[in-house]
Amino acid sequence: MDRMVSMIRDLMQEHTPDQKLGAVVVGAPGPLDSETGLIYEAPNLKWKQVPLREVLQEALQVPVWVDNDANLAALGEYTYGYPLEFEVLLYLTVSTGIGGGIITNGEIYRGIDGGAGEFGHMTILPRGPVCGCGNYGCLEALASGTAIARVAREEVSQGHLRALGESVKGRLADIDARLVAEFAAKGDPEAARIMEEAMGYLGIGVANLVNLFNPRAIVIGGGLSGYPGLLDRVRQVVKDRAYSSLSRNLKILPARLGNKAGLMGCRALAEIKLKSQN
Ligand SMILES: [Zn+2]
Repeated sequence: MDRMVSMIRDLMQEHTPDQKLGAVVVGAPGPLDSETGLIYEAPNLKWKQVPLREVLQEALQVPVWVDNDANLAALGEYTYGYPLEFEVLLYLTVSTGIGGGIITNGEIYRGIDGGAGEFGHMTILPRGPVCGCGNYGCLEALASGTAIARVAREEVSQGHLRALGESVKGRLADIDARLVAEFAAKGDPEAARIMEEAMGYLGIGVANLVNLFNPRAIVIGGGLSGYPGLLDRVRQVVKDRAYSSLSRNLKILPARLGNKAGLMGCRALAEIKLKSQN
């Protein structure tokens, strides 16, 4: 947190030495309370019950808001990626994990406890692989980069995926989803099958979202979203599985802001908050 404060101060010095900073918005991993800016738990940072908003506000003496990073990415794509084109938009990020955000009528939908949009943790296979959240067969455990790497490691250790295994000289820890995607793109049939299976599960997850939310658009971003054919595969599964009356006017689209989606969402939220204060 000290580092965040000093970085913000450095940026202010560098870019706006003569102006007063209007607000700071932080995209943080959840679960958190966006009203109070309290982070309940952030396992990757080993944080528990951290009052991030309070601490930053005191140090910087400007209004601070804290929200879930995937929610902010959704708001970013809604506001700047596809500027206000879709009144009900779902955002899905597929990288090492799978996160999501829900925009309805131009606002982030957070649910009662602020945790809505955890698309990665819908159960797809009841007896599937264990997920980071402790459940079994979550979408994230089947279709994320981590899941793809896990399947590839299992296959290599069983003597399959020979070429890929040789390329890392048997070091299983060096296998990641990017490598599997690379081999699949080069025409390795086993790697392609792993990618195909993951995309199929992703499609099932998205089809569930279509039936649940009947959105106008589903925007898919994250490191894996650029894999060739991913969007078409998801579109096909949605066509096969979701209610056709709900998917007829649906657009499944690539994220336009890349890894700036969260940042642009912070800007959008700052504007909304400051406007509502005036
Ligand atoms: Zn899970």
